[in-house]
Amino acid sequence: MAQAFRITALPGDGIGAEVMEAALAVLEHVGASATVAFEVTTRPIGGAAIEAHGRPIDEATLEVCRAADAILLGAVGGPQWDRLPTESRPERALLRLREALGLFTNLRPAKVYAALVQASSLKEEVVADTDLVVVRELTGGIYFGQPRGYDDQRGWNTLVYTRNEVERIARVAMELALKRRGKVTSVHKANVLESSQFWRDVVHQVAEEYPGVTLDDMYVDNAAMQLVRQPGQFDVILTQNMFGDILSDVAAMITGSLGMLPSASLGDKHALYEPVHGSAPDIAGQGQANPLAMIASVAMMLTISLERPELGARLEQAIEQTLAAGYRTADIAASGAQVIGTDEMTRQVLESYDRINAATESHQEAIKED
Ligand code: NAD
Repeated sequence: MAQAFRITALPGDGIGAEVMEAALAVLEHVGASATVAFEVTTRPIGGAAIEAHGRPIDEATLEVCRAADAILLGAVGGPQWDRLPTESRPERALLRLREALGLFTNLRPAKVYAALVQASSLKEEVVADTDLVVVRELTGGIYFGQPRGYDDQRGWNTLVYTRNEVERIARVAMELALKRRGKVTSVHKANVLESSQFWRDVVHQVAEEYPGVTLDDMYVDNAAMQLVRQPGQFDVILTQNMFGDILSDVAAMITGSLGMLPSASLGDKHALYEPVHGSAPDIAGQGQANPLAMIASVAMMLTISLERPELGARLEQAIEQTLAAGYRTADIAASGAQVIGTDEMTRQVLESYDRINAATESHQEAIKED
């Protein structure tokens, strides 16, 4: 019998809704060709939710998210809602979701696809073997510490981490490293900040539980430099909220395009997968959006939350083969190259997926006959 999963789809605004269509087509396809079934519930979020019921996210949507095995999000926002007060803007829905679902980890893989190595702003030989994940603590640190404020003489924020906050994010990084190349780089500023000395020590204590993982420490300023000098040296980068915010954007740009980057936000009970990009109002409604970041987010969901890594890997491979065959949306096309739209790119990925499936099945048949 097929394994059934409940998925909440939050398409959002602009190209968020367009790439979500691609994600749902992928789920339907994977469901039809494997022993899994997806029961998808779609809810408005962001600007779409403001139009539907006056708020960027409502309690009913949060309930549907809580009941799901995993959540897929497109993107929110658009110029029509830019004049609303901060509390009512579409982007508020993202903070509310993280808080309500306890999503304390942000995972951002940055991988350079061989076919796109020229799209990076760095030299080919520097970026060629980049395949890293930034594990960013998402609900603590200086963005949330109290007291905070400013007057006409001073401005202040508080950087505090508790043992529990550091231990749980360190464990996520160690577990992830075990499934990858076994290396964690803990990034901090322990030469200057006491909160970083605490971070460093707690991460080392957690690492003692993981003899299969090699742990290195790196100061954040050096990490920024090393990321653009030799990104291939990193496997898993573990860091606190603000450092992760900055470093994950640096890592992202190594790969060349926003339209290629997936992400996951994880908590103890819930998980949300989304492309790194926004709603791209400049190209919304034109069918030009690159769906690969969203499709790669589906691959992460299959691997991490639904524990079907073989399906996630096949989808990843399908993306790679589609790019290797030369298919490009406008954002990743070299000048003069032939460009395809969102639907055609999605169709090509699904065709590659079918070819990989067929090859895997005939390989397994051959093994059985042996
Ligand atoms: P953006 O990521 O939407 O777009 C930046 C540039 O990248 C644009 O030129 C866009 O056309 C291009 N781009 C992005 N994704 C693409 C894709 N998949 N295919 C092809 N091209 C792509 O960032 P922005 O313009 O700064 O923000 C637009 C809106 O999105 C704002 O309202 C912002 O608040 C919101 N936003 C939302 C999220 C989210 O929902 N997680 C994240 C970032 C920005």
